[in-house]
Amino acid sequence: MSVSTLAADQSVCAPLPVLGRDVTVPLVTGGEVAYAALDYAASAPALQRVWDDVAAYAPYYGSVHRGAGYLSQLSTDLFENARRTVAEFLGCREGDQVVFTRSTTDSLNLLADALPADCQVFVFETEHHASLLPWRNARVTYLDAPRSPHQAVETLERALADRDPHGPALVCVTGASNVTGELWPVRELAAAAHAHGARIVLDAAQLAPHHPVSVADLDVDWVAFSGHKLYAPFGSGVLAGRADWLRAAEPYLAGGGASRKVSRREDGGVDVEWHDSAARHEAGSPNVIGAYAVASACRALTEAGFDTLVAREQHLVRTVREGLSDVPQVRFLSLFGDDAPRVGVLSFVVEGWNSSHFAAALSAEYGIGVRDGLFCAHPLLRTLLGSDPQAQGECGSPEAAPGEKSLNAIRVSFGAGT
Ligand code: PLP
Repeated sequence: MSVSTLAADQSVCAPLPVLGRDVTVPLVTGGEVAYAALDYAASAPALQRVWDDVAAYAPYYGSVHRGAGYLSQLSTDLFENARRTVAEFLGCREGDQVVFTRSTTDSLNLLADALPADCQVFVFETEHHASLLPWRNARVTYLDAPRSPHQAVETLERALADRDPHGPALVCVTGASNVTGELWPVRELAAAAHAHGARIVLDAAQLAPHHPVSVADLDVDWVAFSGHKLYAPFGSGVLAGRADWLRAAEPYLAGGGASRKVSRREDGGVDVEWHDSAARHEAGSPNVIGAYAVASACRALTEAGFDTLVAREQHLVRTVREGLSDVPQVRFLSLFGDDAPRVGVLSFVVEGWNSSHFAAALSAEYGIGVRDGLFCAHPLLRTLLGSDPQAQGECGSPEAAPGEKSLNAIRVSFGAGT
């Protein structure tokens, strides 16, 4: 089966209804076709169930934490219950904090802001820019791209063995690549980090929508994910994990909600006592609807069962790979090998084609929405493509003349609504 007929594959029903599934789009060749969104890795269309839950909450909408009124109290309960739901979804330990943020990018920047003095950070060059870049104000060691999960663990162990054993250290790793979909050996990397006295944060932006993530079972110190990749709307994210570094740090944002007591000093200045709870890093009026939507998505995924979701996605991954296997110009991108376990994310190049033109043709001629470009992972794309994508813009779609080596790639990604 080819990519162009994938949208018509009704042999297995999509596990969960999402918004926009019935959208039809005009084709340049004439007529209309049901739109196939195969770009879940960028943003997963919100579940119908999430919108229904948010609509049901609307009549009870009220300010949280600081109101005595009935609706304020109700909203505060819903907000704090959302926190508990997320903690449960992530298998948090007793005493872990769940901080509501705007996104994975925001969560990792928050943690970067909360690093203890002299913290050394270790990060693979293969990371998404959201997990690669926030640490630049710390002492950061960028690790070379490994070509197997085993090599990833070895590379990290070697780097950690050379570090100053007395100071604090943090490892940041992505659970599933947003480019290749490959799963990283998180449990083994966490064990290596801890054996060398370092902590570890898991970027679960791509893992959490496809796999159960348990902070306790994986033994990671923090986990970050984005609501909009987990079938909730844009604008909400989570950082969950150990409370100590978060409590010791200055608030990410200074303002109301983060402060317990503010007083004028005799010298004219201002003294502040900050909260020790998650509120310390949630200054300002929080995104209550966002948090509520994330919790609703967590419940929906748990009820649907990851087994069902994964089976469907793996079916789609196989369909695309088999369908494209008789096109000799197609080359799939992988670090760990074509058969490495992966989530429903695949990237490839079509030799002789400009990936941007290929993606545009899929949309205009077949109504299939895929992603083209460098996927905010420039160093990884450079390794995978063997070409230099630098200076091509933020998440750019650089041009390559027909027949030239591809400077960018095409990504197909699946989710609960595909
Ligand atoms: N980490 C990974 C692996 C991602 O794929 C992404 C987004 O694509 C991010 C982090 C950043 O997510 P957000 O843009 O929601 O902050």
